[in-house]
Amino acid sequence: LAPNIRASIQPLEESAINRIAAGEVVERPASAVKELVENAIDAGATRIEIAVADGGKTVIRITDDGCGIPSEELPLAVARHATSKIDGSDLLNIHSFGFRGEALASLGAVGRLTLTSRTDRTDAAELSVTGGKTGSVKPAALSKGTVVTLRDLFFATPARLKFLRSDRAEMQAISDVVKRLAMAEPSISLTLRDVSGGGEGRVTFRADAVTGDLFDALRGRLGQVMGREFIDNAVPIDADREGIHLTGLAGLPTYSRGAAVAQYLFVNGRPVRDKLLIGALRGAYADFLSRDRHPAVALFIDCDPHKVDVNVHPAKSEVRFREPGLVRGLIVSALRHALAEAGHRSSSTIAG
Ligand code: ADP
Ligand code: MG
Repeated sequence: LAPNIRASIQPLEESAINRIAAGEVVERPASAVKELVENAIDAGATRIEIAVADGGKTVIRITDDGCGIPSEELPLAVARHATSKIDGSDLLNIHSFGFRGEALASLGAVGRLTLTSRTDRTDAAELSVTGGKTGSVKPAALSKGTVVTLRDLFFATPARLKFLRSDRAEMQAISDVVKRLAMAEPSISLTLRDVSGGGEGRVTFRADAVTGDLFDALRGRLGQVMGREFIDNAVPIDADREGIHLTGLAGLPTYSRGAAVAQYLFVNGRPVRDKLLIGALRGAYADFLSRDRHPAVALFIDCDPHKVDVNVHPAKSEVRFREPGLVRGLIVSALRHALAEAGHRSSSTIAG
Protein backbone atom coordinates (compact mmCIF):
# COMPACT_ATOMS: atom_id res chain seq x y z
CA LEU A 1 0.00 0.00 0.00
CA ALA A 2 1.05 3.59 -0.63
CA PRO A 3 2.12 5.43 2.53
CA ASN A 4 -1.07 7.55 2.73
CA ILE A 5 -3.50 4.72 2.21
CA ARG A 6 -4.59 2.82 5.30
CA ALA A 7 -7.14 0.36 4.05
CA SER A 8 -9.44 -0.50 1.23
CA ILE A 9 -12.03 2.11 0.22
CA GLN A 10 -14.80 2.37 2.81
CA PRO A 11 -17.74 4.72 3.29
CA LEU A 12 -17.18 7.34 6.02
CA GLU A 13 -19.16 7.02 9.23
CA GLU A 14 -22.28 9.20 9.48
CA SER A 15 -20.76 11.28 12.31
CA ALA A 16 -17.66 12.00 10.22
CA ILE A 17 -19.82 12.98 7.24
CA ASN A 18 -21.76 15.39 9.45
CA ARG A 19 -18.58 16.93 10.86
CA ILE A 20 -17.28 17.49 7.34
CA ALA A 21 -20.56 19.15 6.28
CA ALA A 22 -20.53 21.21 9.48
CA GLY A 23 -17.19 22.67 8.42
CA GLU A 24 -18.99 24.43 5.57
CA VAL A 25 -22.36 25.16 7.15
CA VAL A 26 -21.13 26.38 10.54
CA GLU A 27 -18.03 28.46 10.30
CA ARG A 28 -18.53 30.29 13.59
CA PRO A 29 -21.24 30.90 16.23
CA ALA A 30 -22.90 33.51 14.01
CA SER A 31 -23.49 30.87 11.33
CA ALA A 32 -25.25 28.67 13.90
CA VAL A 33 -27.43 31.62 14.94
CA LYS A 34 -28.23 32.30 11.30
CA GLU A 35 -29.33 28.73 10.62
CA LEU A 36 -31.45 28.55 13.78
CA VAL A 37 -33.16 31.91 13.33
CA GLU A 38 -33.88 31.05 9.69
CA ASN A 39 -35.50 27.82 10.88
CA ALA A 40 -37.70 29.81 13.27
CA ILE A 41 -38.72 32.18 10.45
CA ASP A 42 -39.46 29.23 8.16
CA ALA A 43 -41.65 27.82 10.96
CA GLY A 44 -43.85 30.93 10.80
CA ALA A 45 -42.72 32.40 14.13
CA THR A 46 -43.91 35.88 15.08
CA ARG A 47 -41.55 36.24 18.06
CA ILE A 48 -37.99 34.98 18.15
CA GLU A 49 -35.77 35.26 21.20
CA ILE A 50 -32.07 34.68 20.86
CA ALA A 51 -29.89 34.24 23.93
CA VAL A 52 -26.13 33.75 23.68
CA ALA A 53 -23.32 33.46 26.19
CA ASP A 54 -19.59 34.01 25.66
CA GLY A 55 -19.93 35.08 22.04
CA GLY A 56 -22.07 32.01 21.34
CA LYS A 57 -19.21 29.66 22.18
CA THR A 58 -20.86 28.15 25.27
CA VAL A 59 -24.59 28.80 24.80
CA ILE A 60 -26.87 29.68 21.88
CA ARG A 61 -30.58 29.41 22.64
CA ILE A 62 -33.33 30.27 20.14
CA THR A 63 -36.94 30.33 21.31
CA ASP A 64 -39.75 30.69 18.78
CA ASP A 65 -43.54 30.54 18.66
CA GLY A 66 -43.68 28.82 15.28
CA CYS A 67 -45.42 25.64 14.16
CA GLY A 68 -43.14 23.30 16.11
CA ILE A 69 -41.85 19.84 15.20
CA PRO A 70 -44.10 16.82 15.84
CA SER A 71 -42.48 14.58 18.47
CA GLU A 72 -42.24 11.63 16.09
CA GLU A 73 -40.33 13.77 13.58
CA LEU A 74 -37.66 15.00 16.01
CA PRO A 75 -35.19 12.25 14.95
CA LEU A 76 -35.69 13.25 11.31
CA ALA A 77 -35.17 16.92 12.10
CA VAL A 78 -31.62 16.14 13.26
CA ALA A 79 -30.94 13.63 10.47
CA ARG A 80 -28.85 14.77 7.53
CA HIS A 81 -30.57 15.66 4.26
CA ALA A 82 -34.04 15.51 5.78
CA THR A 83 -36.22 18.59 5.29
CA SER A 84 -39.88 19.53 5.37
CA LYS A 85 -39.30 22.48 3.05
CA ILE A 86 -39.03 21.18 -0.46
CA ASP A 87 -41.11 18.67 -2.18
CA GLY A 88 -38.84 15.85 -3.33
CA SER A 89 -36.33 17.37 -5.70
CA ASP A 90 -37.49 20.81 -6.83
CA LEU A 91 -34.36 22.85 -6.14
CA LEU A 92 -35.50 25.43 -8.67
CA ASN A 93 -38.50 26.51 -6.66
CA ILE A 94 -37.27 27.53 -3.22
CA HIS A 95 -39.37 29.86 -1.06
CA SER A 96 -37.93 29.06 2.38
CA PHE A 97 -34.59 29.93 3.95
CA GLY A 98 -33.77 26.26 4.47
CA PHE A 99 -33.89 23.40 1.99
CA ARG A 100 -30.64 21.47 2.42
CA GLY A 101 -31.71 19.69 5.59
CA GLU A 102 -28.26 19.76 7.09
CA ALA A 103 -28.09 22.55 9.67
CA LEU A 104 -29.39 20.66 12.69
CA ALA A 105 -27.40 17.52 11.77
CA SER A 106 -24.27 19.65 11.44
CA LEU A 107 -24.84 21.50 14.72
CA GLY A 108 -25.45 18.22 16.55
CA ALA A 109 -22.22 16.85 15.08
CA VAL A 110 -20.00 19.65 16.38
CA GLY A 111 -21.77 20.72 19.57
CA ARG A 112 -24.37 19.68 22.16
CA LEU A 113 -27.77 20.29 20.61
CA THR A 114 -31.15 19.97 22.29
CA LEU A 115 -34.46 20.48 20.50
CA THR A 116 -37.61 20.98 22.54
CA SER A 117 -40.78 21.40 20.56
CA ARG A 118 -44.53 21.27 20.64
CA THR A 119 -47.13 21.37 17.88
CA ASP A 120 -50.89 21.85 17.87
CA ARG A 121 -51.41 18.12 17.70
CA THR A 122 -48.42 16.66 19.63
CA ASP A 123 -47.28 17.10 23.23
CA ALA A 124 -43.98 18.77 23.99
CA ALA A 125 -40.96 16.50 23.54
CA GLU A 126 -37.21 16.85 23.40
CA LEU A 127 -34.26 15.24 21.70
CA SER A 128 -30.52 15.80 22.18
CA VAL A 129 -27.58 15.18 19.88
CA THR A 130 -24.08 15.43 21.29
CA GLY A 131 -21.01 15.22 19.08
CA GLY A 132 -23.04 13.32 16.49
CA LYS A 133 -24.66 10.87 18.93
CA THR A 134 -28.45 11.11 18.91
CA GLY A 135 -30.33 10.36 22.14
CA SER A 136 -33.96 9.32 22.44
CA VAL A 137 -37.13 11.39 22.32
CA LYS A 138 -38.37 12.31 25.81
CA PRO A 139 -41.43 14.13 27.11
CA ALA A 140 -40.80 17.78 27.96
CA ALA A 141 -42.60 20.92 29.10
CA LEU A 142 -43.20 23.76 26.65
CA SER A 143 -46.30 25.82 25.91
CA LYS A 144 -45.75 26.50 22.21
CA GLY A 145 -43.20 26.43 19.39
CA THR A 146 -39.60 25.36 19.58
CA VAL A 147 -36.56 25.96 21.77
CA VAL A 148 -33.21 24.99 20.31
CA THR A 149 -30.26 25.02 22.66
CA LEU A 150 -26.73 24.64 21.36
CA ARG A 151 -23.98 24.33 23.95
CA ASP A 152 -20.23 24.08 23.57
CA LEU A 153 -20.14 24.66 19.84
CA PHE A 154 -17.11 22.95 18.20
CA PHE A 155 -16.23 20.96 21.34
CA ALA A 156 -16.12 17.96 18.97
CA THR A 157 -13.86 19.74 16.47
CA PRO A 158 -11.05 21.35 18.52
CA ALA A 159 -9.25 22.58 15.36
CA ARG A 160 -12.24 24.80 14.53
CA LEU A 161 -12.57 25.95 18.12
CA LYS A 162 -9.03 27.38 17.95
CA PHE A 163 -9.95 29.65 15.05
CA LEU A 164 -12.75 31.46 16.87
CA ARG A 165 -12.15 35.10 17.63
CA SER A 166 -12.75 36.95 20.91
CA ASP A 167 -16.19 36.72 22.55
CA ARG A 168 -16.68 40.33 21.62
CA ALA A 169 -15.89 39.77 17.93
CA GLU A 170 -18.11 36.68 17.76
CA MET A 171 -20.95 38.58 19.49
CA GLN A 172 -20.54 41.36 16.94
CA ALA A 173 -20.89 38.85 14.09
CA ILE A 174 -23.99 37.36 15.75
CA SER A 175 -25.52 40.79 16.13
CA ASP A 176 -24.87 41.49 12.43
CA VAL A 177 -26.59 38.25 11.39
CA VAL A 178 -29.62 38.97 13.59
CA LYS A 179 -29.91 42.52 12.24
CA ARG A 180 -29.81 41.35 8.61
CA LEU A 181 -32.54 38.79 9.25
CA ALA A 182 -34.56 41.40 11.16
CA MET A 183 -34.42 43.71 8.12
CA ALA A 184 -35.72 40.94 5.90
CA GLU A 185 -38.68 40.21 8.20
CA PRO A 186 -40.26 43.44 9.54
CA SER A 187 -43.36 41.67 10.87
CA ILE A 188 -41.41 39.43 13.26
CA SER A 189 -40.23 40.69 16.64
CA LEU A 190 -36.72 39.66 17.59
CA THR A 191 -34.60 40.13 20.67
CA LEU A 192 -30.94 39.33 21.13
CA ARG A 193 -29.77 38.85 24.70
CA ASP A 194 -26.29 38.38 26.08
CA VAL A 195 -26.61 35.84 28.92
CA SER A 196 -22.89 35.48 29.66
CA GLY A 197 -22.52 34.73 33.37
CA GLY A 198 -26.08 33.33 33.59
CA GLY A 199 -29.38 34.87 34.62
CA GLU A 200 -31.66 37.03 32.52
CA GLY A 201 -28.74 38.72 30.82
CA ARG A 202 -29.13 42.00 28.98
CA VAL A 203 -30.85 42.82 25.72
CA THR A 204 -28.30 43.97 23.13
CA PHE A 205 -30.71 44.29 20.20
CA ARG A 206 -34.46 44.42 19.92
CA ALA A 207 -36.75 44.95 16.96
CA ASP A 208 -40.50 45.09 17.55
CA ALA A 209 -42.87 43.94 14.83
CA VAL A 210 -43.79 46.72 12.41
CA THR A 211 -46.76 46.77 10.09
CA GLY A 212 -48.27 49.01 7.44
CA ASP A 213 -47.69 49.22 3.70
CA LEU A 214 -44.39 48.11 2.20
CA PHE A 215 -42.51 51.38 2.66
CA ASP A 216 -43.95 52.15 6.12
CA ALA A 217 -42.91 48.71 7.36
CA LEU A 218 -39.54 48.99 5.67
CA ARG A 219 -38.84 52.46 7.08
CA GLY A 220 -39.96 51.32 10.53
CA ARG A 221 -37.74 48.26 10.60
CA LEU A 222 -34.75 49.85 8.85
CA GLY A 223 -35.00 52.69 11.36
CA GLN A 224 -34.81 50.17 14.23
CA VAL A 225 -31.76 48.51 12.71
CA MET A 226 -29.83 51.21 10.82
CA GLY A 227 -30.97 54.22 12.81
CA ARG A 228 -33.32 57.15 12.25
CA GLU A 229 -30.58 59.19 10.62
CA PHE A 230 -30.33 56.74 7.73
CA ILE A 231 -34.08 56.89 7.11
CA ASP A 232 -33.97 60.69 7.07
CA ASN A 233 -31.07 60.65 4.60
CA ALA A 234 -32.24 58.05 2.13
CA VAL A 235 -34.44 57.93 -0.95
CA PRO A 236 -36.98 55.21 -1.65
CA ILE A 237 -36.24 52.84 -4.52
CA ASP A 238 -39.05 51.06 -6.31
CA ALA A 239 -38.35 49.72 -9.80
CA ASP A 240 -39.15 46.77 -12.04
CA ARG A 241 -37.55 45.25 -15.08
CA GLU A 242 -38.61 42.05 -16.80
CA GLY A 243 -39.97 40.38 -13.70
CA ILE A 244 -37.22 41.59 -11.35
CA HIS A 245 -38.37 43.94 -8.59
CA LEU A 246 -36.05 46.25 -6.74
CA THR A 247 -37.19 48.04 -3.59
CA GLY A 248 -35.49 49.58 -0.59
CA LEU A 249 -33.79 52.74 0.58
CA ALA A 250 -30.63 54.23 -0.86
CA GLY A 251 -28.60 56.62 1.28
CA LEU A 252 -27.89 60.10 -0.06
CA PRO A 253 -24.29 60.70 -1.16
CA THR A 254 -23.99 63.20 1.73
CA TYR A 255 -24.66 60.34 4.16
CA SER A 256 -21.78 58.15 2.89
CA ARG A 257 -19.25 56.33 5.07
CA GLY A 258 -15.52 55.73 4.98
CA ALA A 259 -16.10 51.95 4.92
CA ALA A 260 -18.71 49.68 3.35
CA VAL A 261 -20.31 48.89 6.71
CA ALA A 262 -23.94 49.78 6.02
CA GLN A 263 -24.72 47.91 2.82
CA TYR A 264 -27.50 45.42 3.21
CA LEU A 265 -28.58 43.38 0.21
CA PHE A 266 -31.36 40.81 0.00
CA VAL A 267 -32.45 38.45 -2.72
CA ASN A 268 -35.91 36.98 -2.32
CA GLY A 269 -35.79 37.88 1.36
CA ARG A 270 -32.41 36.26 1.90
CA PRO A 271 -29.51 38.39 3.16
CA VAL A 272 -26.65 37.97 0.69
CA ARG A 273 -23.11 39.20 0.15
CA ASP A 274 -22.74 39.23 -3.54
CA LYS A 275 -19.94 40.63 -5.72
CA LEU A 276 -22.25 41.38 -8.64
CA LEU A 277 -24.61 43.43 -6.46
CA ILE A 278 -21.80 45.28 -4.70
CA GLY A 279 -20.28 46.08 -8.10
CA ALA A 280 -23.64 47.40 -9.29
CA LEU A 281 -23.84 49.65 -6.21
CA ARG A 282 -20.43 51.07 -6.95
CA GLY A 283 -21.52 51.72 -10.52
CA ALA A 284 -24.71 53.45 -9.39
CA TYR A 285 -22.91 55.84 -7.02
CA ALA A 286 -19.85 56.38 -9.25
CA ASP A 287 -20.99 59.85 -10.35
CA PHE A 288 -22.05 60.89 -6.84
CA LEU A 289 -19.26 59.65 -4.55
CA SER A 290 -15.47 59.56 -4.61
CA ARG A 291 -13.94 56.08 -4.62
CA ASP A 292 -13.04 56.11 -0.91
CA ARG A 293 -16.64 56.83 0.20
CA HIS A 294 -19.28 54.11 0.56
CA PRO A 295 -23.03 54.52 0.44
CA ALA A 296 -25.45 53.20 3.07
CA VAL A 297 -28.16 51.11 1.40
CA ALA A 298 -30.76 48.47 2.09
CA LEU A 299 -31.93 46.92 -1.17
CA PHE A 300 -34.31 44.06 -1.76
CA ILE A 301 -34.36 42.18 -5.04
CA ASP A 302 -37.36 39.95 -5.60
CA CYS A 303 -37.89 37.68 -8.55
CA ASP A 304 -39.24 34.34 -9.56
CA PRO A 305 -37.10 31.68 -7.76
CA HIS A 306 -36.30 30.20 -11.18
CA LYS A 307 -34.34 33.32 -12.08
CA VAL A 308 -31.81 32.88 -9.27
CA ASP A 309 -29.83 29.95 -7.91
CA VAL A 310 -29.46 30.13 -4.12
CA ASN A 311 -27.76 26.76 -3.87
CA VAL A 312 -24.25 27.99 -4.62
CA HIS A 313 -22.69 27.46 -1.22
CA PRO A 314 -23.78 25.58 1.94
CA ALA A 315 -24.04 28.87 3.86
CA LYS A 316 -26.43 30.15 1.15
CA SER A 317 -25.11 33.72 1.26
CA GLU A 318 -24.05 33.70 -2.38
CA VAL A 319 -26.45 33.60 -5.29
CA ARG A 320 -26.22 33.32 -9.06
CA PHE A 321 -28.62 35.22 -11.27
CA ARG A 322 -29.66 33.73 -14.54
CA GLU A 323 -29.44 37.20 -16.13
CA PRO A 324 -26.76 39.11 -14.18
CA GLY A 325 -26.64 41.95 -16.72
CA LEU A 326 -30.34 42.63 -16.25
CA VAL A 327 -30.01 42.83 -12.45
CA ARG A 328 -26.97 45.08 -12.65
CA GLY A 329 -28.67 47.36 -15.16
CA LEU A 330 -31.77 47.64 -13.03
CA ILE A 331 -29.82 48.59 -9.89
CA VAL A 332 -27.58 51.10 -11.63
CA SER A 333 -30.39 52.88 -13.46
CA ALA A 334 -32.91 52.88 -10.57
CA LEU A 335 -30.39 54.26 -8.06
CA ARG A 336 -28.89 56.80 -10.44
CA HIS A 337 -32.31 58.08 -11.30
CA ALA A 338 -33.44 58.36 -7.66
CA LEU A 339 -30.20 60.02 -6.55
CA ALA A 340 -30.21 62.47 -9.45
CA GLU A 341 -33.82 63.43 -8.63
CA ALA A 342 -33.00 63.91 -4.97
CA GLY A 343 -29.97 66.06 -5.88
CA HIS A 344 -32.09 68.04 -8.27
CA ARG A 345 -34.77 68.58 -5.62
CA SER A 346 -32.34 69.71 -2.95
CA SER A 347 -30.49 72.09 -5.29
CA SER A 348 -33.74 73.62 -6.55
CA THR A 349 -34.89 74.08 -2.92
CA ILE A 350 -31.66 75.92 -2.20
CA ALA A 351 -32.04 78.00 -5.36
CA GLY A 352 -35.66 78.74 -4.50
P1 ADP B 1 -33.69 22.76 6.60
O1 ADP B 1 -33.96 24.05 7.30
O2 ADP B 1 -32.80 22.92 5.42
O3 ADP B 1 -34.93 21.96 6.31
P2 ADP B 1 -32.55 21.97 9.17
O4 ADP B 1 -31.54 20.94 9.53
O5 ADP B 1 -32.23 23.37 9.51
O6 ADP B 1 -32.82 21.83 7.61
O7 ADP B 1 -33.95 21.58 9.84
C1 ADP B 1 -34.50 20.31 9.56
C2 ADP B 1 -36.01 20.31 9.72
O8 ADP B 1 -36.34 20.48 11.10
C3 ADP B 1 -36.72 21.44 9.01
O9 ADP B 1 -37.01 21.11 7.65
C4 ADP B 1 -38.00 21.61 9.85
O10 ADP B 1 -38.98 20.69 9.45
C5 ADP B 1 -37.54 21.24 11.24
N1 ADP B 1 -37.25 22.43 12.08
C6 ADP B 1 -36.02 22.91 12.39
N2 ADP B 1 -36.11 23.99 13.20
C7 ADP B 1 -37.42 24.22 13.40
C8 ADP B 1 -38.20 25.21 14.15
N3 ADP B 1 -37.58 26.19 14.85
N4 ADP B 1 -39.54 25.10 14.12
C9 ADP B 1 -40.18 24.12 13.41
N5 ADP B 1 -39.51 23.17 12.69
C10 ADP B 1 -38.17 23.21 12.68
MG1 MG C 1 -32.58 25.14 8.33
